[in-house]
Amino acid sequence: MGANFAPRSGGSTLVVPTFISFVGRLARIVCTKMPAGRTPRPAAAPSAASPGQAGGPIDWDALRGAAGEAAARAYAPYSGLQVGAAGACEDGQLVTGCNVENASFGLTLCAECGLVSALVAGGHRHLVALSVLAGDGRPLPPCGRCRQILMEHAGPELLLDAGEGRAPQRLGDLLPGAFDRSELAKAARGTAARRRAASAGTARSSTRGRR
Ligand SMILES: [Zn+2]
Repeated sequence: MGANFAPRSGGSTLVVPTFISFVGRLARIVCTKMPAGRTPRPAAAPSAASPGQAGGPIDWDALRGAAGEAAARAYAPYSGLQVGAAGACEDGQLVTGCNVENASFGLTLCAECGLVSALVAGGHRHLVALSVLAGDGRPLPPCGRCRQILMEHAGPELLLDAGEGRAPQRLGDLLPGAFDRSELAKAARGTAARRRAASAGTARSSTRGRR
C-alpha cells in the first residue's frame, strides 16, 4: 500500500546507520520500515495495494516523494546534479539512496549504489519498482553501470519510473542481453568438462605406459 512507502505515514522509521564512502561519512542511506502491525487495506482502494506484492500497483507518488527527499540530501558539490533513488522491495519495504560525489570524480557513487547497499544491508531481497529523480524532480535513467547493478538485485522485470503520466520501463528493455550469473555457471561447467577430459586423458596415458 502507498502508506508502506510514505516516510511520514506515522509508522516507525529505521535509519540504517550505513555510510558508504571511503572516509565513512559521504553517503547516507535511509531505509523506511513498514509500520509493525499495519494491516493491508481492502482491495477497494486500488492505489493502496502493497507495492511489494507481485503484480500489485506501485505507488509511484510515494516513491517519487522518497526519491526527492533523498535527492535533497545528495552530496554533489562538483556536478551540482543531486540525484535521489527510491525503490520498492518485494517484501513491501522502501529503500533509498542518493549520489555521493568525490573530488577524484571516478570514485563517485550513484544514488542507485547506495540504494542497493541499503537493500542488502537491510536484509531485503528483491526490488520491484524504482524511481530515480534529479533534485529538480526530473526522472533520470540509471547509468549503464547501475543498470547492471540493478539487474543483479531486481531482474529484468524491475519497473523504472519514466515520469508522471508515462508508462514505467522494464529494466530488461534498458539492458538487453545483460551479463548474469548464468554466464558464470556456463564457465564453471566448461571448466569442469575440460578437467574431466584432461583427467581421462592422463588415465589413458598411464594405462598405456604400464603395458
Ligand atoms: Zn549509475
